[in-house]
Order: sequence, then structure tokens, then C-alpha cells
Amino acid sequence: MTDMSYLDGNMLDGPLRELFAVDLSAATGRCDNCGRPGPVAGLQVWSHAPGLVARCPNCNGVMLRLVRAPDRAWLDLRGATYLQVPMPLDQPHPRPL
Ligand SMILES: [Zn+2]
Repeated sequence: MTDMSYLDGNMLDGPLRELFAVDLSAATGRCDNCGRPGPVAGLQVWSHAPGLVARCPNCNGVMLRLVRAPDRAWLDLRGATYLQVPMPLDQPHPRPL
């Protein structure tokens, strides 16, 4: 018997493509270390590392790391509890299952 209560990760392609196509600097992120929410544009970014390291302006905790190679990228958001991304109202959004 097959459990049909979930879908495989392929169904995330459309929703994630929509999300990553917007300007994420307009998003709000919540620091996992101190709990402070704030705009991504307000993070303090160090660019002289192997990648980009963005820190919380309140506690200096690392909220985001982005490393880019010619053929791939790594995005580490473990320092952020969430990212809240403003979305255009005129686009359809998936309904929760
Ligand atoms: Zn913080």
C-alpha cells in the first residue's frame, strides 16, 4: 500500500521558482539567535569570505551564507528562523493541502 498523503519534492519547483524570482532584499528575516525580525536589506554582509556572510545587526549572529561556484550555489539559512517574502497580489498561490 502506498501512502498518498504527501507529494514528492518535484511539486515544490513551481512555488520555489516563484519565490526565488522576487527581490529577496525586500524580505523580512527573523534571527534564529536573538529572535529579532528585520529586513534582509538591513543585514550586515561580509563579502571577503569564500562566499557572502550576512549577520544580524542586533546580535551579530550569522543569518545567511551564500556561496557561488560556476555551476552551482549553496544557500545556508540555518541562522534565520524564517524569511517572510512580499509577493505580488496578482499571482495565484498554492493552497495548503
Ligand atoms: Zn540576532
